[in-house]
Amino acid sequence: MSMLSRRPLTARIDTAALAHNLGLARRLAGNARILAVIKANGYGHGLARVADALRAADGFAVLTLDEAAALRAQGYTHPIVLLEGWFHVDELPEIARLRLRPVIHREDQLDVLLKARLDNRIDLLLKLDTGMHRLGLPPQRLAALLDRLRGAPQVGGITLMTHFACADEPQVGVAEQLARFHAATRGLHLPVTLANSAALLRHPDTRGDWVRPGILLYGVSPFAGTTGGELGLLPVMTLESALIAVQTVRKGEGVGYGAVFVAPRDMRVGVVACGYADGYPRHAGTGTPVIVAGRPSRTLGRVSMDMLAVDLTDVPGAHVGSPVTLWGQGLPVERVAEAAGTIAYELLTAIAPRVRCEAV
Ligand SMILES: *Cc1c(COP(=O)(O)O)cnc(C)c1O
Repeated sequence: MSMLSRRPLTARIDTAALAHNLGLARRLAGNARILAVIKANGYGHGLARVADALRAADGFAVLTLDEAAALRAQGYTHPIVLLEGWFHVDELPEIARLRLRPVIHREDQLDVLLKARLDNRIDLLLKLDTGMHRLGLPPQRLAALLDRLRGAPQVGGITLMTHFACADEPQVGVAEQLARFHAATRGLHLPVTLANSAALLRHPDTRGDWVRPGILLYGVSPFAGTTGGELGLLPVMTLESALIAVQTVRKGEGVGYGAVFVAPRDMRVGVVACGYADGYPRHAGTGTPVIVAGRPSRTLGRVSMDMLAVDLTDVPGAHVGSPVTLWGQGLPVERVAEAAGTIAYELLTAIAPRVRCEAV
């Protein structure tokens, strides 16, 4: 990104908070090893920066071969898991060469693997579908699949995996999926990995050999209605900007596109350099929380591509240049997500490339 622009919008990434959150994951994990999930550009925080701050993790999990190759190029020798395995057979030689660990979730992936000529053995994760019905092998096929893999020259270590649909929902939980997993894998003596952040926080019986926290590392709660701070986590990303204009709006006048906010009285309105093209959710309506010059305030009207409007009624000293916090320290991203009818995962991973990102 050009360093010429002084547009005030910045995502500040608190790398010490990442390390703190990893420490909390470590305490929860007991003897299990930690696979730090850093897919989606480290949940929007920057892959390289996040990997550096989390290098004390026991391994990394990413989505694409490109992400994994970037980590290897930066010198990381950790185990690196590809959470959806390969998308095309042409990726296989590079996966082997870089000693990545793909997830196998379809039987035809094994057909391909067992025909491949590779320079070295690949460590695999066999993902079982225990009830989420997204990715995974049918548990009843596991024994036959392990038979096929036994002695295959392409195959190194095997880890058994599953993923929970409702670990974050108190009414449903993990019990049924966990029971299916245990029934399918009993007596196999292979390492297992089950837990995402929600399971790690709420279901100690899912720890297994490797846990896979993602969102909690970024200081965010996976549970509806709670914030990371309430769980002892520290927010990692603070999205900050400033007022670039102040308007005095007369009673009855509209603010922004569609004039969907109409001033109930004469009032001062601030214009913030942050819009939906930066990743701020356009669905966040009037009343979404925001901090202006250190005081709690709210957004007004529709979010524009490059700007949004805020209420300065309770911030009389605010002026052009006054700092604005969109989320992060002092304003949990979970609260903004709730106001926008979404989850914090979506807001963090939607931060646009044009937003300056700085480690602090
Ligand atoms: C993304 C992902 C995780 C991490 O989930 P969080 O809810 O962010 O902790 C764990 N396992 C798999 C398979 C994933 O895709």
